[in-house]
Amino acid sequence: MKTLQIFLSAGLIFLTFSCPSLLGAEKLKALIVDGQNNHSWATTTPVLKWILEESGRFAVDVSTTPPGAPKRMLPGQKAEFEKTSAALWAKWRPNFSDYDVIVANYAGDRWPDEVRVAFERYVRNGGGLVIFHAADNAFPDWPEFNEMIGVGGWGGRNEKSGPMIRWRDGKIVRDESPGPGGTHGPQHEYVVEIRDAEHPITKGLPKRWLHAIDELYSKLRGPAKNLTVLATAFADPAKRGTGEHEPMLMTIAYGKGRVFHDALGHAPASMVDVGFQVTLARGTEWAATGKVTLPAPKPEEMSADKVVKREPPPKP
Ligand code: ZN
Repeated sequence: MKTLQIFLSAGLIFLTFSCPSLLGAEKLKALIVDGQNNHSWATTTPVLKWILEESGRFAVDVSTTPPGAPKRMLPGQKAEFEKTSAALWAKWRPNFSDYDVIVANYAGDRWPDEVRVAFERYVRNGGGLVIFHAADNAFPDWPEFNEMIGVGGWGGRNEKSGPMIRWRDGKIVRDESPGPGGTHGPQHEYVVEIRDAEHPITKGLPKRWLHAIDELYSKLRGPAKNLTVLATAFADPAKRGTGEHEPMLMTIAYGKGRVFHDALGHAPASMVDVGFQVTLARGTEWAATGKVTLPAPKPEEMSADKVVKREPPPKP
């Protein structure tokens, strides 16, 4: 009996180390942070969670910050809100270090200093970070955050924030010309073009795919240190675009940390194409581990001619 027990536990240990997928032990822990955004974080977070979990690679938690102030408040309500808000923020202390990767779906009030310090330490010491769409609008006055995102938009960003990053004549150009950071024309479908096909995130993927209806973020500006552009999209002047190939998928090295910056994904309708989903999941895996094991889809699932959709299941 004892021999059998030893045999079984040895077998279990063997399985755990050799074939972790059998026990589900290989799942990476991801934390989506949301709670305030000029975008509909409450509808995009479930889609992000679905994309990551559906890949089979992630277990996903969500940490939602206290709400921002309502737009209109009477003087008496303001004092009450501030009191309640301070108490809620005092309790919001996500344990970043419990996770392999943080997915930022947040653009709103300043985080408490203690959280900012923990977040900086987490990324600098090798944590993974994914910046999803309007998360690059956040915290224009937080220098360390701006280094993590590489480039961002709005919030008073301008030439003092750093250059715009452009793809011209087959290479990256830092464009220092003055002007506000962050713009986009009306939403439309557009082709995303991979510019670095040797990076683990993009290796083996089709070079171009037609992305679902979305804003085409343009004129993002920032320190752009240690930044690699993986994919761009052409901001067509016919769609009130800049006429530039604007960076859409980027990586940034911050200390020992890895950042994947995905400028795509304005709304759930912008998150239905396989190309978006695959690059998000692979980028998140890379941010978490520095490697990508998630397979490339079939070439016809990332077509440059039509938007190939994979819709999340309807809400229960
Ligand atoms: Zn948007």
